[in-house]
Amino acid sequence: MKFSSPVNLMMIGVFTLLAASVQSQGTDRGNVTDARVINSPGLEPGSWLTYGQTFKEQRFSQLTQINTGTVDRLGLIWSKQIGDYNMRMQGTPLVVDGVMYVSNGWSVVYALDATTGEEIWTYDPEVDRSYIRLACCGPAHNRGVAVYEGKVFVGTFDGRLVAIDANTGEEIWDVDTWIPAGLGRFNITGAPRAAAGKVYIGQGSGETGHRRGYVTAYEAETGEVAWRFFLVPGDPSKPFEHPEMEMAAQTWGGEWWKYGGGGTAWNSLVYDEEFNSLYIGVGNGAPWPRDIRSPGGGDDLFLSTIVSVDVDSGRMNWFYQTTPGDNWDYSSAMDMSLGEIEFGGVMRKVVLQAPKNGFFYVIDRSNGELLRALPYTDGIDWATHVDMETGRPVENPNVVYELEPQWIMPANSGAHNWEPQSWDNELGLMYFYYHDIANFYSLDEGFVETGEYQIRERGLSLGWGEGDYRRRLIEQAGPRPPSQAYIGAFDPITGTYKWRHELESDYNGGVVATKGNVLFQPEGTGNLSARDTNDGELLWRFKAPGSFRSTSVITYKIDDTQYVATMMNGNRAIDLGGTVLAFKLDGDHSLPIPEIAQATVPELPDDIYSQEQSREGDDLYHAQCASCHGGIGVPNEVAIVAPDLRLMTLDTHSDMEEIVIGGTRAQQGMPDFEDTISAGQLESIRAFIVEQARRLQEYQIQNQEAVEATSNEEDLNRA
Ligand code: CA
Repeated sequence: MKFSSPVNLMMIGVFTLLAASVQSQGTDRGNVTDARVINSPGLEPGSWLTYGQTFKEQRFSQLTQINTGTVDRLGLIWSKQIGDYNMRMQGTPLVVDGVMYVSNGWSVVYALDATTGEEIWTYDPEVDRSYIRLACCGPAHNRGVAVYEGKVFVGTFDGRLVAIDANTGEEIWDVDTWIPAGLGRFNITGAPRAAAGKVYIGQGSGETGHRRGYVTAYEAETGEVAWRFFLVPGDPSKPFEHPEMEMAAQTWGGEWWKYGGGGTAWNSLVYDEEFNSLYIGVGNGAPWPRDIRSPGGGDDLFLSTIVSVDVDSGRMNWFYQTTPGDNWDYSSAMDMSLGEIEFGGVMRKVVLQAPKNGFFYVIDRSNGELLRALPYTDGIDWATHVDMETGRPVENPNVVYELEPQWIMPANSGAHNWEPQSWDNELGLMYFYYHDIANFYSLDEGFVETGEYQIRERGLSLGWGEGDYRRRLIEQAGPRPPSQAYIGAFDPITGTYKWRHELESDYNGGVVATKGNVLFQPEGTGNLSARDTNDGELLWRFKAPGSFRSTSVITYKIDDTQYVATMMNGNRAIDLGGTVLAFKLDGDHSLPIPEIAQATVPELPDDIYSQEQSREGDDLYHAQCASCHGGIGVPNEVAIVAPDLRLMTLDTHSDMEEIVIGGTRAQQGMPDFEDTISAGQLESIRAFIVEQARRLQEYQIQNQEAVEATSNEEDLNRA
């Protein structure tokens, strides 16, 4: 027998596939190894083994059964509700040997039969739900799990990393990832990555309380700490944890360690077996304005940086900072894809990222050399360009919000946020969605007056102008510039789009492109769309009874059938929870659609409040309550993900002190504000809510219409 012929080599491939398929029936679930992930593009293109499908995180599928000719036959084949009605479903499902591993907002993990949605096991880490107090952006969320060597790993909303038996769903180990040097406690919302025998995790909550970012590598087998890499230096009067911190401390000013500085790695961690390294995508500075955070400082390393760390030693290989001295919440924690691109006849191994700041970076993975940094949007106000000589952005001298509060693009939500991208390495094209949205930037009112700034122990500490002060500044500055979202196929070398189309909603989900020339995207409108990768033309759509804002989409193949799966956010209006949806050709499942719940303002208390009290309540509400319950009375800033407080019943009004200060609903996700809001302040908040409820009631009576008690698509202060 000759093993050198292509036919026989293919047969070896078939045998390997068969072996993998047999495993799925037995009790050897989750048997993902480094070699298996590395070989998966050739041997098992139908699997989705890690957050970005493979270690390279290209999210470009080789599957072709669903293609431009067949996609119009695509139909729902199963659905499985795994979340609450108010849950954002941001996770990327993994598919290994016929099993889908997926998580919900409270970090509960489900193992499902990927062909039917039938439950195999669930694991509930019993998250302390009062951690909602540390959430930046509405309700609890989780971007997914890692599967590795028989275990499933999940980072929990209360800051733990848990290893679960992939066969049984039983817990194997559970570690608290918080350490005192990281200052306050935090949420984890990102997906852990597992490779080279270790599991890697950072943290969220960049802007709540005092925060100092770091990434920890744990031994996958035991949960023991292998190494820890800090991303912001601590108090320089104490020993630095590792030499990189000594270097980083030279770039900070003032007493930054009293604030913490931010720099959390809340999303992107990419393993590269070719350089034995982990690329850490580092988040923004906290508080946002550098005048507050690091007066007299410089670049503030490693904020908004891509850091390459050796996975064995935990020592840095190189770093590249996308936004030196971050002043705008321009995280560099967005997804990264690894690829190969030819430059002047030489093939370079590159990392590709479109961070919030509006420029698309192509960086040499071997040494951190900047190869390209061209704008991927026209909506960049803060900088004019990236200077390729210095490798640094050139800040726009006419756009200085410390001197002149103003609307600036991109907003803090970024021109592109964490929503996944898809890289076609053959064509050198990145498929992704972005939006042009402006945010109104100004310094904190108290800081402007006194030069002092206090971090809140609860709620967000952004260091920017809030409440009535903000509204007055906006009145002077003029209305918000129009916003628009796009999807396109971007060439990062030329900085041009092969095609680009406008999207209907400002906030949408990530994408996956396939060798079948189909590009899938879940949209904020509730449409799952399929486009032609050649020109972006719409080929097919599925309208779901909920939003796909900030969700992701995958495709996988089991036996001879290709599937597409995504997760729909919960929909308060119809009391439908977060749901996994799976599609295949000729799928004929239909989703039960409950009736839309209409809400009218109920009977209101007849208390009379002074205008001053309701003004105070307005400021307090927007500082403490709005990140979940939504901004009220601020144009374009209503974003309701927890109940609309204007619809509170008389009973809730009477119970309000027990709920807010006493914490009686802590396990439903409403934390106690005992040490943050006094009884008198709560009464002012109530005054503001009652005033706003009366206004809405009047509107409803005049227009004889109820409001859909649902979340909407407007601006939310994100990540
Ligand atoms: Ca942030």
